[in-house]
Amino acid sequence: MSEQREYAAEAERLLRKVPEHPDDREELLLAAAAQWILAERPAEALPLYDALLDPTSDPVSDPALVQALKAAALWDTGAEQQARELAVAVRAQAPASLPPWQIIGETFEVHDDLPAAAAWFEDATDHFLTPDEVTYEARRILITRHRVRRLLGESHDDRDHLADYVHSAPVPLDELHDPKRLWSLGSDDPAEVRREIERLRTELADHRAALSRPYPLAVLYWPEAELIALLTRYPVFAADYGSYPEHLRSVEQALHALSATGAPFLGVVTATLPTYEAYARTQTLPPATPSLPAAYATSLAARGHATPWPPPRNTPCWCGAQIPYAEHCGRPGTA
Ligand SMILES: [Zn+2]
Repeated sequence: MSEQREYAAEAERLLRKVPEHPDDREELLLAAAAQWILAERPAEALPLYDALLDPTSDPVSDPALVQALKAAALWDTGAEQQARELAVAVRAQAPASLPPWQIIGETFEVHDDLPAAAAWFEDATDHFLTPDEVTYEARRILITRHRVRRLLGESHDDRDHLADYVHSAPVPLDELHDPKRLWSLGSDDPAEVRREIERLRTELADHRAALSRPYPLAVLYWPEAELIALLTRYPVFAADYGSYPEHLRSVEQALHALSATGAPFLGVVTATLPTYEAYARTQTLPPATPSLPAAYATSLAARGHATPWPPPRNTPCWCGAQIPYAEHCGRPGTA
């Protein structure tokens, strides 16, 4: 399959960059490992995770994340017992960040150990859910826990009701997590079942690649004065962005749509015309190039300029208005 060859080539390209960019070693090795997973060659990812976890090299920013990715890759190569042992080691650290919890739980899930996945997400809910606030992390975990429990045919408990309550998308969770929709094993046609399994595998690999991306998937936001300046100088973008209120709404809508696909780590990056034009010069492209704003957004996010979305309750809105998100762009009905 040529797609898998492309992933492998990308992994090799990233690895060739490591010697000349030692400061980006962690980012490059994680990205290369994610490409090997997408290429369905998990055995090639294992030495990269080991290199990152090597106690004699520079410590990585989230060791539990690397261990979780390694556990997933181990199980993919058939080393189930080692993967389970590593999951126990990750659990013992009670990781502060969300991705290690998601990766291990979904590893149990994709290898059909649903009871272990359910127990894992129960622990994760205990870990992230606090009585006073449903944080971003708690919401993601509640929604994943809901999916696994629905696959197991469990009836709703209080936490499932809370998941329904915090899930803000047009399709209700119960329908989204319908086991028939998730896993059409009711089919008698083996080709259809194989296709469905293939689809789930690809989704999971994409998801894992996204989790090991060390920066958020970011949507570009132009403040009003910057948007006017952009459209005055490069009218070609007028059709994409429309008026400022339309632009505000479409940023919020794009983030909701990405979130509904399960994309983890979303963010907003704020554009300015001078930095945009400077970026165009570094790319030796005219600023009016249609694909350039997206590349500029990724470059801002990769350099740590993204505001996480959705913003925590009672912090100012991502658009810069000194009003909490929930009362501004996140107001129900806005998106
Ligand atoms: Zn706003």
